[in-house]
Amino acid sequence: MKQHIAVEGEADLRAEPTDVGLTNPTTSNLCKRFGAKRQRKMPELPDIVVYMEALEQRVVGHVLENLEVRGPSLLRTADPPVYSVQGQRVTALRRIGKRIAFGFDNDLWLVFHLMIAGRLHWSQKKKTADGRRTLAAFDFDNGTLTLTEAGTRKRASLHLVRGEAGLAALDPGGVDVFAVSLDQFSAVLTSANHTLKRALTDPRLFSGIGNAYSDEILFHAQLSPVLLTQRMKPEEIKRLYEATKQTLTLWTENLRKESGTKFPEKVTAFRDEMAVHGRYGKPCPRCGAKVQRIRYASNETDYCPHCQTGGKLLADRSLSRLLRQDWPRTPEELEERRRA
Ligand SMILES: [Zn+2]
Repeated sequence: MKQHIAVEGEADLRAEPTDVGLTNPTTSNLCKRFGAKRQRKMPELPDIVVYMEALEQRVVGHVLENLEVRGPSLLRTADPPVYSVQGQRVTALRRIGKRIAFGFDNDLWLVFHLMIAGRLHWSQKKKTADGRRTLAAFDFDNGTLTLTEAGTRKRASLHLVRGEAGLAALDPGGVDVFAVSLDQFSAVLTSANHTLKRALTDPRLFSGIGNAYSDEILFHAQLSPVLLTQRMKPEEIKRLYEATKQTLTLWTENLRKESGTKFPEKVTAFRDEMAVHGRYGKPCPRCGAKVQRIRYASNETDYCPHCQTGGKLLADRSLSRLLRQDWPRTPEELEERRRA
């Protein structure tokens, strides 16, 4: 049965009812894969902020005595040599999009991008980069920071750059939503006509927002992920602006509370307290309707049809097509794009 769905302000969609055969063995394997993948997510602004607060207390003012980089694909720069920071003191930490930068007193910056499976760990005991998953170890005078990455696809990266110019070259250029006015936010959002999901997660437009928190932001703003940005009404943009700041603040506080004084080891775990993200098929916390998902480019977006798309169940297949057309092949590709 073909059904014609057109939601005002969205692309015109010709869609089939959504159940894409969950009993089909291939699809069910795919679901398992998606399920497994959903247990991990790329650190976004709240996760990075909480990591940085924990690092601030541990490494700022301390000397990096020794470092070991094992992962052959981890280090992406050769000059200056990575050992140039050995014996140097950490003077500052900075967030560059979804990256964490460590500034040293010789004006060099060590910049980490954890991507989806990279994680930082802190130990007061000296540790070497011996485990299969450990790609690098940094010994400070008061403990060791290690970087691990699960899985076989190693995407995490480490750059050593010089000064502000070096940092700027790694910055995809997205604005910090906490540093811009509603007018500035609106100008960035509507600078191109993308789906809302794509616009929010594009690091060249907004800084530090990824797949998980964009789902939560859109839920709180009660907006459809496939709404086209240049067709949004001013009151919708205002709602999105407020929801973006509120959602990121709320989650930063949640994560901060959870890790307390310990080093945050679970910041990026899947969270059942989220409203829609990773909650496909579960009831919406606001209205009880089943959370739906749209898959595209080895990614997915979760939404409540009642709260976000005017009660319409938007079909998976045509929406996947729409989002796919608006997307690079993989979420990593979007993340790795530089300033236009
Ligand atoms: Zn709902």
